Amino acid sequence: MPLQKPESVDECVYFTQRTLGDRQQGYAMVWVFRQHCPKCKKGIMGKPRGKDGSVKVRAKEYECPECHYIVPKQEYEETLTASVEYTCPACSFNGEKQVPFKRKKVEGVDALRVQCDKCKAGMDITKKMKDRKSKESFSEDD
Ligand SMILES: [Zn+2]
Ligand SMILES: [Zn+2]
Repeated sequence: MPLQKPESVDECVYFTQRTLGDRQQGYAMVWVFRQHCPKCKKGIMGKPRGKDGSVKVRAKEYECPECHYIVPKQEYEETLTASVEYTCPACSFNGEKQVPFKRKKVEGVDALRVQCDKCKAGMDITKKMKDRKSKESFSEDD
């Protein structure tokens, strides 16, 4: 079954598109949908908002706008599922899969590791350290 894709990045906790590989021969698009509050099931969990209504993107927690249930950022993200559409840089296989949204340290950088279903090569979707303001990395704020 094809993966459901977001119509807008606003539906996502995380969304990124990357080229992969030394010659940028690979590609990955990764997205994580926002989910309903595990407590009240009504609100959609998101970064808390300030008094002026703007989202606090650097917040270290997620909050339910309905019942104000709060979960630490990392703990919450690890319960989520990342959807990945990729072109493997090693074997050019086009695939899609879902993986737990758990990042691991790869050479000192947090990365989501995805394994190619065909050749089993690992693809690391690292957090972007540069151009933090680009829309691709809007949720990669820390
Ligand atoms: Zn709630
Ligand atoms: Zn491969």
